[in-house]
Amino acid sequence: MTITSITDKDRIFTNLYGFQSADLKAAQARGDWDKTADLMKAGPDPIIEAIKASGLRGRGGAGFPTGMKWSFMPKEPTPGRPNFLVINADESEPGSCKDREILRHDPHKLVEGALIAAYAMRARACYIYVRGEFIRETEALRKAVAEAYDAGLLGKNAAGSGWDFDLFVHRGAGAYICGEETAMLESLEGKKGMPRLKPPFPAGAGLYGCPTTVNNVESIAVVPTILRRGAAWFAGIGNLKNEGTKLFQLSGHVNTPCVVEEAMSIPFRELIDKHGGGIRGGWDNLLAVIPGGSSVPLVPAHEIIDAPMDFDGLKALGSGLGTAAVIVMDKSTDIVRAISRISYFYKHESCGQCTPCREGTGWMWRVMERLREGDADIGMIDRLLDVTKQVEGHTICALGDAAAWPIQGLIKHFRPELERRIAANGAMREAAE
Ligand code: SF4
Repeated sequence: MTITSITDKDRIFTNLYGFQSADLKAAQARGDWDKTADLMKAGPDPIIEAIKASGLRGRGGAGFPTGMKWSFMPKEPTPGRPNFLVINADESEPGSCKDREILRHDPHKLVEGALIAAYAMRARACYIYVRGEFIRETEALRKAVAEAYDAGLLGKNAAGSGWDFDLFVHRGAGAYICGEETAMLESLEGKKGMPRLKPPFPAGAGLYGCPTTVNNVESIAVVPTILRRGAAWFAGIGNLKNEGTKLFQLSGHVNTPCVVEEAMSIPFRELIDKHGGGIRGGWDNLLAVIPGGSSVPLVPAHEIIDAPMDFDGLKALGSGLGTAAVIVMDKSTDIVRAISRISYFYKHESCGQCTPCREGTGWMWRVMERLREGDADIGMIDRLLDVTKQVEGHTICALGDAAAWPIQGLIKHFRPELERRIAANGAMREAAE
């Protein structure tokens, strides 16, 4: 089914651009904190069921069904092992810039969502882990939390719900890997942010060894509106299994880069024409798109133009929706250089605790640099592909995959360009001899 654009009445984030104040009074005027206790009266399990029925899938990249994730938490926490909610605001994926808009312009949506989500998971405390570089965003969030405490919306009998709930804001120190959920838990515990082996999964043993759910900012911030407007409303937007609205982040070679809330599954062309002002130089000038943040494989122009922008539509193209950070590249792009730069990023951000990632990311980047110059033999392309396969799926966390996939996408779609560079370099060398 072809999905069309939503109108303002279906937008959850009504202050995304900061045209209004982010403070409590303005947030309440926009509908936040409206009879929150009534929403919670349904009880934890019906809230989880409603989130399941809404079809909400995690907005942090993996797309795991949010309601199902919540249902993994113990229904009766054992004494001494409380349930925790951790909200991932470590937005560090190159291209991603949506959570920061929520933090600085609409933080009360997140704070209210944290209360409701924590209640549904029987958690009395929530930690919001904010990216270290987000200084102003952290200030805005801390202000919102303080306002909520002052108004009795957090703390004892939060919002008059009868539920005691505390919310803590924790700033990271700027390491990309702390966005990985178990590295985030390590960091929150005061240790080096290094991913843990799974299992055990956080729902069994997470923060301080207690049951924990880690959710993305957007996933939690949409919860109050879903409950107010009903699961069926949210589920009625987008395609089956890809329901709801989504914050898309358009960057690169579009005429008007922006963050915009749109219907999940909107076709790429409509998204770009309507909100990105079209491709720089026109549609014939489009080269390729990285549709979900730097870790997902690129998709060439002809494949993505009519594709639905959702989890399953992009998976079918061998890529992914990720965080919906859409990086558009026109024909002026040196595509090999662009992917090589991404390889450098992952090499730099590897925590180094597993060998395929620690050694592989550096090796892949160095080979990418040689391919950029054409300083390689043809066999090097397949050797590089082979190494990406040895890294993919053989590491503790997904950073290994994130380093491998962009290169795999490049080789899959732009092998002739790699071969051309090698041939050109060879011809140059022969001419010089
Ligand atoms: Fe660290 Fe890389 Fe291993 Fe992840 S894959 S745990 S970042 S070394």
